[in-house]
This record gives sequence, C-alpha cells and structure tokens, in this order.
Amino acid sequence: MNIKNGLVEAIGNTPLIKLQRASEMTGCTILGKAEFLNPGQSVKDRAALYIIQDAVARGTLRPGGVVVEGTAGNTGIGLALVGNALGFRSVIVIPETQSQEKKDMLRLAGATLVEVPAVAYANPNNYVKVSGRLAEALAKTEPNGAIWANQFDNVANRQAHVETTGPEIWDQTEGEVAGFVAAVGTGGTLAGTAMALKERNAHIKIALADPFGAALYSYYTTGELKSEGSSITEGIGQGRITENLKDAPIDLAYRIPDSEAVQIVFDLLEHEGLCLGGSSGINVAGAIHLAKELGPGHTIVTVLCDYGTRYQSKLFNPTFLREKGLPVPGWLERKIELPN
Ligand code: PMP
Repeated sequence: MNIKNGLVEAIGNTPLIKLQRASEMTGCTILGKAEFLNPGQSVKDRAALYIIQDAVARGTLRPGGVVVEGTAGNTGIGLALVGNALGFRSVIVIPETQSQEKKDMLRLAGATLVEVPAVAYANPNNYVKVSGRLAEALAKTEPNGAIWANQFDNVANRQAHVETTGPEIWDQTEGEVAGFVAAVGTGGTLAGTAMALKERNAHIKIALADPFGAALYSYYTTGELKSEGSSITEGIGQGRITENLKDAPIDLAYRIPDSEAVQIVFDLLEHEGLCLGGSSGINVAGAIHLAKELGPGHTIVTVLCDYGTRYQSKLFNPTFLREKGLPVPGWLERKIELPN
C-alpha cells in the first residue's frame, strides 16, 4: 500500500513541471518545482517541519509547547499545520501588509495571530524582533514552554533543502540539472538547494532572482548591501545576510521588476493552468535569464513557491494592479451577456 502516515509525510517529494513557454522561448528545459502542492500550499512547509523536528530533537520543544514565529505568512501556515499534526500550538507575528488570504488561513489553522506594522529590520518593532521577544516571554508563562522558530537565522530551515529539495531535484533530473534559480526570503531554499546541488556537481550554476526593494542583488554583484525601489511580491526581498545565506555558493544574480514577474504569473495561469504567487514569477523570470546566459540545451530548475489563491485580493485584483501601475490580464475582467 502507498500510504502517507499523516500530514508530515505528505510534505516534499513535489513534482518538477516543465514550463512550456519559458522552455520554448529559450531552447532550454525550464522546470518548476511544484512547491504549491505541499499540504500548506508553499515551499515553507519543508522548513517548518525541519525547524519543529530540530527543536523536538534538542529537547527545547516539549509536548503541548508553543511555537512562536515572525513570518510573511507561509512559514506560519506550515508551522501551524505541522504543529496541529504533532501536538504544538502556534503564535504568529505577521506584518499587517501581508495578504488577507494568508492571515485568514493562519486563523483557520488555529494559529494565534499578532499583526504588527511593517517596519524595517533595524526597528525594534519589526515583526521578526517582536516574535523573538514574544517567544522569550511565553517561554516563562506557557505551562509546556515556548520556542522561537527564528527561520531567518535557524539553519534547520536551510537543512530541509540540503536534505530534501536539493536531492529531489538531482534525482528527478537524473543529474542533468545545469542551473538553479530562486528568490530569497530567509535564503533557506536558495542556500540549502545550492549546497546540495554543488556537492553533487560543482559546475551547476546557482543564481539569485531578486525583486526590487531587496539588497541582495547589489550584494552579490558589488559586495555592498544596497536596495532601491519596491515590489508587490510577498515572502521575498531580504536586506541582510541571514545565517541561512552565509556561505551560500551563489554564482549569478538577476534583479527582476514586478512588471516582468506578474506578466509571467498571468501567462502561466492563462496558458499552462499554473496558479502561482508573485515570488514564483520572480523565480521563473530568473530562470529565463539564466537560460539565456547558459544557452540552449540546458536544464534549468526553479521553484514554484506557493499557490495563487493566496493573493487573489492583490496580485489578481484589477483595482490593486491599476493602483500599482501593473498590467491587468483581460480574463480577470471578462464578462459575458446571457442570451434572452
Ligand atoms: N516565496 C514565498 C511566497 C515565500 O513565502 C517565501 C518564504 N518567505 C519564499 C518565496 C522564499 O523562501 P526562503 O525563505 O526559503 O528564502
């Protein structure tokens, strides 16, 4: 019998989907790792599981304990669902700018939600710092204790990708993968997958796809952390070198404007039936850039990070798109007259 023994075993082992138009356009085979098929509909289920398992193994997370985290949403959804499956509660601190759909999903999963203003990391009221202080306080008052997941600097996050995402991509492409591209939130996906792939073949090219508003494109091209502009994408766009990013073997970096990323998201939905969030658009744009750089005939892998319904009120909302000066796909507003 082929049975998953609970939610935890249903995380990972996602398919690689060939992206037809991107592949045709470049003469490469461009493949998307379908992370939206995880139970929490995002790549962050992997990190959530590894962070929880690591804390249990260390003895810091005890039965009935509370997991506290600051998150743009997806990690929180993963932590809440895995927590429910394994007997832990979750308290999630989220910047109020994140999509309503992610907040609704967190509440649905039983997480206690704390919304805070979106302020820079340097500000003590930044969501990550608030979550750290809250975890410290709850550790003293919760009967079964509390831990801070600390996804940005807890390398159990990256280890999930060293042990699962990277080896899966290697096996699924039978070692043919020539390039891997991803955007960075914590850096767990990019760094962990890169480390696993480079260990198997040091010639595999690793590229960062960065949105505007992040500082990593500048860091990997000039050595200086500097940002300009902004992006409507969520869950990505880092301003510092997190512990997860330290020593990541990154060869190339691309900076992708939202206009390019959202057009790709719309095209993938309209022509290939793939319903994805904005960070997947940044990633596929990055994969197209890398394919052009490597030339035809190569196999390039990127990550389809999360499912598009999570952004219906923003990325797929004509009013929001017009406000941001972004294109509105015709099918979003298509109407039909009923015959008399
Ligand atoms: N895309 C989305 C939608 C995310 O939520 C995240 C994680 N915050 C990422 C991409 C980036 O993943 P990582 O944290 O592994 O860098």
